[in-house]
Amino acid sequence: MVLLPEVSRSLFRRLRVPASMPRQNPPDTGKHPARLSLISRHLAPVYPINTPYTVERLPDTIETSLLPKAQSRKMSSQPPHPTLLIPGPIEFDDAVLQSMSHFSESHVGAGFVAKFGETLSMLRKLFQTTDPSAQPFVLSGSGTLGWDLVAANLIEPGEDVLVLGTGYFSDGFADCLRVYGANVTELKAPVGTKPQLPEIEKALSEKKYKAITVTHVDTSTGVLSELKQLSALVHRVSPETLIIVDGVCSVACEEIDFDGWGLDGVVTASQKAIGCPAGLSISMFSGRAMKALENRKTPPAAYFASMKNWTPIMKNYEAKKPSYFATPSPQLIHALHTALKQILASPLSDRFAAHKTASDKVKKAITDLGLKQVAANPDEQAHGMTAIYLPEGVKGADLLAILAKKGVVFAGGIHKEIATKYIRFGHMGVSVLDPKRNDIDHALKALEESLVECGYKKA
Ligand SMILES: *Cc1c(COP(=O)(O)O)cnc(C)c1O
Repeated sequence: MVLLPEVSRSLFRRLRVPASMPRQNPPDTGKHPARLSLISRHLAPVYPINTPYTVERLPDTIETSLLPKAQSRKMSSQPPHPTLLIPGPIEFDDAVLQSMSHFSESHVGAGFVAKFGETLSMLRKLFQTTDPSAQPFVLSGSGTLGWDLVAANLIEPGEDVLVLGTGYFSDGFADCLRVYGANVTELKAPVGTKPQLPEIEKALSEKKYKAITVTHVDTSTGVLSELKQLSALVHRVSPETLIIVDGVCSVACEEIDFDGWGLDGVVTASQKAIGCPAGLSISMFSGRAMKALENRKTPPAAYFASMKNWTPIMKNYEAKKPSYFATPSPQLIHALHTALKQILASPLSDRFAAHKTASDKVKKAITDLGLKQVAANPDEQAHGMTAIYLPEGVKGADLLAILAKKGVVFAGGIHKEIATKYIRFGHMGVSVLDPKRNDIDHALKALEESLVECGYKKA
């Protein structure tokens, strides 16, 4: 590692000074952040982060809180702010946010226990399961914790798992499974597509897999996987294989019929289509999956992520009985309770249809602009997000910066093979469902104008 002399001096100074000693901060010359980023860039090859391809979602030259008021639209009773249209976190409803400013209460007090219990029962409705042997879990953590739950609890070291490879998020799931000792086979599809049923059937008939995992919407590409026929195939060809779905970017915007399709596990998170602030790992496991946990020969190699530790707690909460393993976040549970109440106030089919309508509109507008999607096949396109290839000569960082100035926040690319070549537009939750917001039309107009400002002319 070669360091610039100035950087290495400051690094060594920092390394020499014990943490307990008061350190003299350098005067704030404004140069500090640049130096820090220089240091972290130099450290990057030594301590590789596992997302080296992540494009900055917002260029750091843009301080969104300072945007002119006109661009930070007033969409609700929240302070004016740029519209967050990335594939999670999404824009949140006022009532959901307001339920977080709940007074502090005991996590084992009757009021909170009842709220948590109702939340778990409502999740059964969201996942469309009436099977009493299915078990919901709500744990403090992000969507990624769902991968740990599956890997640490349903799979034993050395057991085989078939991972359907659709992009960045299926790769992450595969990595997580390996960490706990699973023997992972990845069936990878070319960027922008998904593994097809005949090859999945072939793989399943060649080896006996404990589980198959599918990323319902791979948020890195906007590819939607079809679950109903896939599940039917697995039940026919390899009936003992557990069917596990990463539904982090699909639960509450794509249809999931947990019982009807015979799924064994769906893991998700609060901050995407469910529309609740980040911080909750939300999952549903079938009776079969719970049996696999019960029948393990070895204990789960996790403590916080051990479903053995959490199952009695979840059962007690749902029965409105106080119980403790580790402290939940009452404020987040209140927010989730409100979000689920709102979701379940209308038929789920209406919610899915509204996301499809908005998605069709976005995708048509993208095509009309002469742009292409990463997920090229209409049958494989997600309904809560769109991954859009940049036109020739337009840089993602430039386009995102101009969009941000117009009060619209899109995300950059994260699929390692194409990261700098596309952007992502999330259209989930209130941005789609609340007609007062006009978020989608506003974003499409901003996109069209921003492309022109980047010098793009439709061919
Ligand atoms: C966002 C996402 C994750 C990771 O969730 P975090 O909350 O960021 O940990 C996993 N899988 C998919 C499909 C996602 O979209």
